[in-house]
Amino acid sequence: AAGKADRLGKTEDTGKPFTIVIDPGHGGIDGGAEGVSGIAEKEITLTFATELQKKLSETGKYRVFLTRDSDVFLRLDERVRIARQHEAGLFVSVHADTIRLRGIRGATVYTVSDRASDAESAATAMRENLSDQLAGFEIEDEDHAVADILADLIRRETHSFSMRFARSLIGELSNTIELINNPHRFAGFRVLKAPDVPSVLLELGYLSN
Ligand code: ZN
Repeated sequence: AAGKADRLGKTEDTGKPFTIVIDPGHGGIDGGAEGVSGIAEKEITLTFATELQKKLSETGKYRVFLTRDSDVFLRLDERVRIARQHEAGLFVSVHADTIRLRGIRGATVYTVSDRASDAESAATAMRENLSDQLAGFEIEDEDHAVADILADLIRRETHSFSMRFARSLIGELSNTIELINNPHRFAGFRVLKAPDVPSVLLELGYLSN
């Protein structure tokens, strides 16, 4: 476990290229949200993720993997496992939600937290976490107490990397696209719970608006 702690934020020292896993949200039986034109969230996330993978790979600086490259269903914990298998330095889950509030537009970057930043973020996390239920899988509670101090340390280091990345991503995005108010939010997204892979969830915008 100490090796994993060393790995975080220090990938350049090992000579291994920085590895990014992009996770196109939903897929297969789980279409996600539906846009006003009838397009499914799962198609938008796959198109976006594929394009992002191409752009990032072209820089020659990163190894970039997708959790899925076709219209298949993946459980949330499978998405997390894929990120860990690749020993990713960063995991980005891509979504495009709907919202009750019609006036809201723009992107949001989420990090994981047991306590949500606001009611709307809590509702978003609840909707995204429903994915497993749609496909008929039981939801197990993975929040077992972490007794191991080292594991807790890794978790905390991972979380602070996630927070730093979320802030810099928002800085970059704000130059090019519209963001919602307070664009860095947090809630209990199950797909962001890898203990050792810094993770963010990017909501591209609201399909309903
Ligand atoms: Zn989604």
